[in-house]
Amino acid sequence: MKAVVIREHGGLDTLRVDDVPAPRPAEGEVLVRVRAVALNNIDIWARSGPPGGRPVYPWGRLRLPMITGVDVAGVVEESGPGVEGWAPGDRVVVCPILYCGRCEFCLAGEQSMCVEYHIFGEHRPGGMAELTTVPARNLLLLPDGTSFETAAAAPACYATAWRGLITAGGLRAGEDLLVVGASGGVGTAALAIGRHAGARVLALVGDAEKAEKASALGSVPIIRRDHSEFSHRVRELTRRGVHMVIDPVGAATWPESIRSLRPGGRMVICGATGGERPDLDIREVYQRHRRIIGAPMGNLADFHAVMDLVLRGVIRPVIHAVLPLEQIREAHRIFQAREHFGKIVLLP
Ligand SMILES: [Zn+2]
Repeated sequence: MKAVVIREHGGLDTLRVDDVPAPRPAEGEVLVRVRAVALNNIDIWARSGPPGGRPVYPWGRLRLPMITGVDVAGVVEESGPGVEGWAPGDRVVVCPILYCGRCEFCLAGEQSMCVEYHIFGEHRPGGMAELTTVPARNLLLLPDGTSFETAAAAPACYATAWRGLITAGGLRAGEDLLVVGASGGVGTAALAIGRHAGARVLALVGDAEKAEKASALGSVPIIRRDHSEFSHRVRELTRRGVHMVIDPVGAATWPESIRSLRPGGRMVICGATGGERPDLDIREVYQRHRRIIGAPMGNLADFHAVMDLVLRGVIRPVIHAVLPLEQIREAHRIFQAREHFGKIVLLP
């Protein structure tokens, strides 16, 4: 089968589509023909090496060679031993949460806190290939009306944004929400989920073109290059600051994100693409009763809650580009240059 196998860290020129043996489904697994797979930061880091060259907490270094690809939609090809309920031809989307099902966190329904928590396409081969094997319990049936591209654009980023804004952050109708990094995968998901929750959404973006797109999604854009101290602009727009910030960027935006909060406001953090060591006086947090809430990918309930909205067409994932898998270099280039607004989807 054709697959993008990351064999070494390096530039775009290390990316190519190889011919490799097709995987076989083990006990409890299903072989899925990948019809669409979305790009995430993990695909970039697997190829370029981790940001800053440091191992990524809590997993350390990625083991190579690896076929990445966290967000997958496709068609069931074959069931492995012991699998019931799936038939060849079933259209499916993959839940990327890998968990033991036995620890106290799993038993409490918090699979993304599992002591053996891992991610599909990061710690086991994923969907940057024509075929992939998936634990049967990670499959969700795709209704006929949902395209493979739409389904693949959603899982990791939309489950993360749902977890942060709704489950962990408790966003309520009428609150003001600032989405930092609003053009990225989690950012565009947060714009949609924030509006769905009835919040007034401010969107921090990089340029005028992205501001227009954020505006078309019903949010109030703030262009960062015009407002390097964007908390001032946030306070102009809201008087006392927002009730909630979601910040998937990290060190580069943390201080201004915290300053954008009104007293008692909460900052949800779920990424460190802009650095993991912020420079901040912690009094700015506690003297204003502000709260910082860590929220990476959600649990199964978060995944199903947001996917239900996506599959019913209530929330429409924002897709920047759909490219054939052969254009994997161009996909990585767009992502790394931050030219995208929404997800980049590849078709094997
Ligand atoms: Zn567990």
